[in-house]
Amino acid sequence: MPDKNSQNLNLTMPVQYLKGVGPAKAAVFENLGVKTVSDLLEYYPRRWEFISEAVKINKAQPQQQCCVIGLVESVDFNNFSRSKIFEVILTDETASIRAIWFHGGFMQKQIEPGMALLVWGKPAVYKHQLQFTNPDFKIIDEESINSAENPGGGVYPATAKLSSRQIKRIISPIVENIDNLVDDFFDRAFCEHAAIVNRKDALKWIHAPEDEEQLKKAKRRLKYEELFLMQLGLALRRYKYEHFSTASAMKADEKLDSRIRNRFPFLLTADQEKAIEDIVSDMEQTRPMNRLLQGDVGSGKTVVALYAALLAVANKKQVAIMAPTEILAHQHFISMERFLKSSKVKRLLVTGGLTGKDRTKITEEIKNGQIDIVVGTVALLQHDIQFADIGLVIIDEQHKFGVEQRNMLRKQLTPHCLVMTATPIPRTLAMTAFGDLDVSIIKHSPPGRGKVITRWVERAKQPEAEEFIRKRLKAGKQAYFVYPRIDSVEDNSDIKAATSEWKNLSKKVFKEFKVELLHGRMTSEQKQEIMQNFRSGKIDVLVSTIVIEVGLDVPNATIMVIEGADRFGLAQLHQLRGRIGRGQSQSHCLLFSETQSQIAKERLEVMQRTNDGFEISEYDLRLRGPGELFSTRQHGLPDLKIADIVEDYELLEMARRDAFKMVKKDPMLTEPNNKKIRKVLLEKFSDSLGLVDVG
Ligand code: ADP
Ligand code: MG
Repeated sequence: MPDKNSQNLNLTMPVQYLKGVGPAKAAVFENLGVKTVSDLLEYYPRRWEFISEAVKINKAQPQQQCCVIGLVESVDFNNFSRSKIFEVILTDETASIRAIWFHGGFMQKQIEPGMALLVWGKPAVYKHQLQFTNPDFKIIDEESINSAENPGGGVYPATAKLSSRQIKRIISPIVENIDNLVDDFFDRAFCEHAAIVNRKDALKWIHAPEDEEQLKKAKRRLKYEELFLMQLGLALRRYKYEHFSTASAMKADEKLDSRIRNRFPFLLTADQEKAIEDIVSDMEQTRPMNRLLQGDVGSGKTVVALYAALLAVANKKQVAIMAPTEILAHQHFISMERFLKSSKVKRLLVTGGLTGKDRTKITEEIKNGQIDIVVGTVALLQHDIQFADIGLVIIDEQHKFGVEQRNMLRKQLTPHCLVMTATPIPRTLAMTAFGDLDVSIIKHSPPGRGKVITRWVERAKQPEAEEFIRKRLKAGKQAYFVYPRIDSVEDNSDIKAATSEWKNLSKKVFKEFKVELLHGRMTSEQKQEIMQNFRSGKIDVLVSTIVIEVGLDVPNATIMVIEGADRFGLAQLHQLRGRIGRGQSQSHCLLFSETQSQIAKERLEVMQRTNDGFEISEYDLRLRGPGELFSTRQHGLPDLKIADIVEDYELLEMARRDAFKMVKKDPMLTEPNNKKIRKVLLEKFSDSLGLVDVG
């Protein structure tokens, strides 16, 4: 085992060998993502505290953060209590105050009567006296009693087993050693250009800043570094596919164009036209298309995707269309079928239920090139399916967007790639998560849609709402009832569940109608059958969970009830609501909810007020904050430790410019100054950004 002294300290050393850390604490650290000394240095404080001038002890106030300096009058260590309390009485010329530390055994050796001590924290009244509990402290020279240094600084994200103070004690000696440990990978000219401090200072100051100014500089440097490396990874990835992979260039002409358009029984909207124009000009190149098609539910993305697919098929290439779930894959297949009647294009839906001989036969046909368009889930990529000559891959991500799938794809083949998403993506995110993608946006939905009126309905008004629904059902309309869970659970909450409410609705409330249940635990066949019956109008009321969120397109369904609406997020509510308002007539979305939560109320009000997905996502961003809504990990990117893509937007723009410029000048990053950067990049982000083959 290496010696626990600083001579052996190096960045790759496991934290376990550090002073004050053994196997147990090392395990806790590992849970925090900290394995090595280097990780520890990048375990940044969550917040920083700077204390004001010390006050005289008689000026200390209960519950107010303050700093006092005095002489230690007495110490006491209660070794018999379970929490082993260390106690100090601190005295200055005005008064005395008690300070106690639980589990303070370690302080016994450090603090003796007669020493000068600075104590900093929030005193509270205990047994009629003011007392500090677990305050920060610093032993100071008696001479400097009047000019003691600031003991404030970093407060670390802690756990029950590892306090911020313990973390600080472990990090401090490393920070003090930083000059021997850390090398900057940016040279001086680079730092000057970017107006950032060097890495040593930044790390020193982020952990132990002397003042706000140092902290600001440290943050700027570390945020920039993080954003720059991420953008550099994206820039390299983009460079790679632009220069090293070739796709087959598709030929498009007017004749083909009108042949494809004739399949659609309507005029394309201006936004659809523009998206198609973008896509065609991409697909005419040998450089693989890498485009994101963004548009609200029902905005007409499928039609655009189908255009692209037919263009590829006309060029004798195969097309794979992939959706996140089987329901959605099935839905895509059906909506395509509507446009492909009596077409010679050979298309096929591959589902998980397909096994044995049938599957073998189908995979053979795909491999021989007998099938033109294959629709399935993302499992298409993972399993045994090989294509004879794939020219286009279309991925429908619906709400989530993962870069992984695209990466997996690129390793195997280089078809053109079109990704569809219904998530309205703020500019900042488009720049980070999709930094290597081109983007087309469908903003306006096709005309001739009935309006969707949304109402928040409280318990007392529900019978009224039910009568309203009954009238519409009698008139031949269909309705969705959506619940936050499949089964009810015994937790005293009155959250309604699909299964039990289905019984209530089918046997009592709407017993004169056909009411059926659909949820994610049913088999694929059961689900398909029920959806088919709903589509054909045999079912009047479909009771479901969010599984219907993706996949059904039934214009005659004009009513949606969302039970426990306060339990869904804004984005989810909006997606759900997108299932109605698909036909000509007016639709109604009824949000059943009895909530006291201010945030939930606000969400319901936003839903009543607007149908605009972009507006709703802006609200979502405001109500929930960017962290939760757009965690980079959700989008297949590494989580950022210190930068925030919304808050640090300007720095992000700058880092992006610098990174793309660097790759343009030195695409392999082989210049001596850039080599170091490349090494760090690969260490940090090679897995998460799929850069394994960049180096
Ligand atoms: P998305 O995939 O974006 O959710 P779809 O492509 O499924 O949207 O389109 C939703 C509905 O609108 C479908 O029924 C589709 O046939 C119809 N649609 C698409 N484009 C147009 C258009 N230009 N004019 C009229 N209806 C359209
Ligand atoms: Mg669709």
